[in-house]
Amino acid sequence: MECTKCGSRHVIIQRKESGQALCKRCFIESVDKKVRHTIKKEKFLKKGDKVLVALSGGKDSVVTLEILNSYRERNIIDLCAVTIDEGIAGYRAEGVEIAKAHAERLGIPHKVVTFKESFGIDLDEIMAYEKHRGSCTYCGVFRRWIINRAARDFGATKIATGHNLDDESEAILMNYLEGNTENMAKIGPKTESNSEMFTVKIKPLREIPEREIGLYALAKGLDIHLAGCPYAHESFRMEVGNIIKDLSKEHPTIRFSLLKGFDKIRLALREELTHDYDYDRCEICGEPSSNRLCRACTFLEELEHDNDRL
Ligand code: SF4
Ligand code: ZN
Repeated sequence: MECTKCGSRHVIIQRKESGQALCKRCFIESVDKKVRHTIKKEKFLKKGDKVLVALSGGKDSVVTLEILNSYRERNIIDLCAVTIDEGIAGYRAEGVEIAKAHAERLGIPHKVVTFKESFGIDLDEIMAYEKHRGSCTYCGVFRRWIINRAARDFGATKIATGHNLDDESEAILMNYLEGNTENMAKIGPKTESNSEMFTVKIKPLREIPEREIGLYALAKGLDIHLAGCPYAHESFRMEVGNIIKDLSKEHPTIRFSLLKGFDKIRLALREELTHDYDYDRCEICGEPSSNRLCRACTFLEELEHDNDRL
């Protein structure tokens, strides 16, 4: 088999959805081009932006950092990175080390923030409580809290996350199946809020399938954290992911069409379902919140109230 672009015989990927076969060089070029196209199309970056990368050390965030670094090298943007240590024994430590090494290699300001120092409790401790809402619920809310605060500490104008096509298509279907229209209105390439205390979030990899991100990291020789989170099986998202994965075997374009279709109705959804909240400050932590307490502090209070430690 030959590379459809250059004729090389060293093909590393066959894209079922397009029939393309690509060698290493053409594959890397094609991913770079696609991401650049998304960045341009969605107006993710403007000259002088300082972008905070949420860097877990996994393939998605490492590739996000790597590709955004090419903008930094051309003096278009500045970069900084934050790694969150949720406190998941036997899992997180390796990712933190890999994240540190990448930030150091590229000379990017970087900090590691733990759940423990931010909330006085880590995820493993939460999961030891008898009553809880499931690991990923806390993880998502607490991570957003930390990232938002880190962005302000760094003076970042954008936050880049490593969400890929698989993540986006799962989020769309999951929220639809849950009837969570409010969340559906929030999904999209950019997450903006009417509060200045929230930094705009961008997803440069949202049109790249997960397997291509892994292959890109491998092709570029990037060290990545491969282990999966031990709590991942607890999520509804994973069940939805498995459904899409199964469908993709016979319908390889399904993730793309799910995203494309959603993008067509996204703005209408947003217009219909989003309201501008009046943000105030959380009474406990001072973060922006439309209620007396932010979600993170609400969860912490609830945990304390509902449980005796096992
Ligand atoms: Fe957090 Fe859930 Fe992801 Fe694990 S799988 S890192 S608990 S969101
Ligand atoms: Zn709070």
